[in-house]
Amino acid sequence: MSKGGEREGVIKFDCRYRPGVPLDSEHLRELNAWRKILFQLELIGQHPARYAGLGFGNISRRAPRSLGGEGGAFIISGTQTGGIPELDASHYALIRECDPHHNRVEAEGPVAPSSESLTHGVLYGLDPELGCVMHVHSPPLWHQATRLGLPVTREDVPYGTPDMAAEVARLWRESSVRSLGIFSMGGHEDGILAFAQTCAEAGTILIRSLARAYALSSPV
Ligand SMILES: [Zn+2]
Repeated sequence: MSKGGEREGVIKFDCRYRPGVPLDSEHLRELNAWRKILFQLELIGQHPARYAGLGFGNISRRAPRSLGGEGGAFIISGTQTGGIPELDASHYALIRECDPHHNRVEAEGPVAPSSESLTHGVLYGLDPELGCVMHVHSPPLWHQATRLGLPVTREDVPYGTPDMAAEVARLWRESSVRSLGIFSMGGHEDGILAFAQTCAEAGTILIRSLARAYALSSPV
């Protein structure tokens, strides 16, 4: 259970999922390399002592033009894959359409999409330049978000809901989140989102922020 009594990994949106074939690995390689690094850093994972043992964290990239990326389609890791050290093509789904206002996601692929797909979709919708979104769970970043100057979504807004979509849009308007490329999810224990034009940039923003968090609590 997280702070607001939320269960990690429970799909709250209307997910219209159609089973389909795995995506071409050329669209997945870089994404999957970063997914592996985030797992090694325990920013994505699964642990009996955390979040009632449910998997946590997910990663996405905008789909290539041939798969509708310009219209907002994106590729995201599947639901409850957090505990798998290295994913393969059978662990990624294509989100064809994401409608945050009606809480609806249309997906296809060999696995159902992450329960946090809607929040990823909101970000791709806000910025056509955005190419990658990482949702991780990091106690040091989350607990020190304010000291680190990270924008924080309101505590009473649960993840994966239309309210969260509106809250992210508010941060977009009212804070420097767009240039920072990272924010903390106030009502979602340890939840952090990082995003950029490329996976390498988003991953760097995340790791650099983590170093700043460790520096704040450093014994030296
Ligand atoms: Zn989460």
